[in-house]
Amino acid sequence: MTALVYLEQTDGAVDEPSLQAATMASSLGGGAEVHAVVAADTAALAPAGPLPVDAVQVAVHEAFGSYAPLAVAEAVVELAGRLGATCVVGPGTERGNEVLAHVAALLDLPLAANCVAVADGGVTRVRWGGSLLEEARVDAPTLLLTVQPHAVAAEPGAGDPPSVETFTPTLSDAALALRVVERVGAATGGVSLADARVVVSGGRGAGSEEGFAPIEELAELLEAAVGCSRAVTMAGWRPHTDQVGQTGTKIAPEIYIACGISGATQHMAGCKGAKRILAINADREAPILQSADYAVIGDLHEVVPAISAAIRAARSG
Ligand SMILES: Cc1cc2nc3c(=O)[nH]c(=O)nc-3n(C[C@H](O)[C@H](O)[C@H](O)COP(=O)(O)OP(=O)(O)OC[C@H]3O[C@@H](n4cnc5c(N)ncnc54)[C@H](O)[C@@H]3O)c2cc1C
Repeated sequence: MTALVYLEQTDGAVDEPSLQAATMASSLGGGAEVHAVVAADTAALAPAGPLPVDAVQVAVHEAFGSYAPLAVAEAVVELAGRLGATCVVGPGTERGNEVLAHVAALLDLPLAANCVAVADGGVTRVRWGGSLLEEARVDAPTLLLTVQPHAVAAEPGAGDPPSVETFTPTLSDAALALRVVERVGAATGGVSLADARVVVSGGRGAGSEEGFAPIEELAELLEAAVGCSRAVTMAGWRPHTDQVGQTGTKIAPEIYIACGISGATQHMAGCKGAKRILAINADREAPILQSADYAVIGDLHEVVPAISAAIRAARSG
């Protein structure tokens, strides 16, 4: 049995959700050989260091200088065919799910997205924004799946780094036409929401765009990322890139500080991976208190500045 795992790289390094996908692929058992594929516009971008796979194949094409999902899928399909892969795995990120959806369409096979476990051709996967775990049997010659971010702990792989080979995939004109042609950088700070160890988030309770000032101040003190609820993005107070939830970013910080957020199911779907939740809310009946490890009942415009002041005092003392 051969498994092929598609890895995404950020700034030349395999990102965390891809490492998690590789870890799940390597745990398939049955003596499966695990190959990884990365797409790059130069062979120099081959991942370095240990990975939990036996071999890495770098699909090299100038189209991969930007995000080109159908082209990546065609490269994955070509390699999977050459390897005789019986399982193709990808990270359950926006891009990983998009690439694997193209792979499924090209192969005319079903895709099990956002899986948390795989065993004997069956998968357990997250549905309905995390409120349901579905157990499904997949009836297909090749099992296609993506791994729900943060469902498994990433293991970098022990021993020697895997062998690395390159190949030039054959890409269709349609695939080459579908790619990112321009990027506009987000005007947010340096800490990425998806990877942050601490996230300070605001909801409708912040009251306005300006109401995020104390939340930003606390985030800066804690070197945290700022998040928000959909009520906030819908009001135009913060960009959608800050939104946590089912239709936003899924996060798994050490601590999630939720200020003025009620804790709707769709919001909790994005932060249930947090190790600890501190809720700051004016309403002691707010649903988020059922998931919170710590809570402060009060007005966030008083509580959050008080926490910042206490941190400053502790640091200067
Ligand atoms: C298909 C679908 C997808 C969705 N996806 C998402 C998603 O990805 N992310 C998301 O967040 N939502 C999502 N939603 C919306 C979700 O259902 C909620 O409407 C939303 O999360 C509510 O945001 P909120 O908690 O900020 O606002 P509210 O529910 O209005 O809660 C505001 C909270 O602030 C408290 N508060 C008010 N004033 C203060 C104060 N001064 N100090 C302290 N606390 C105060 C209140 O007690 C209340 O608990 C989705 C909905 C649908 C239907």
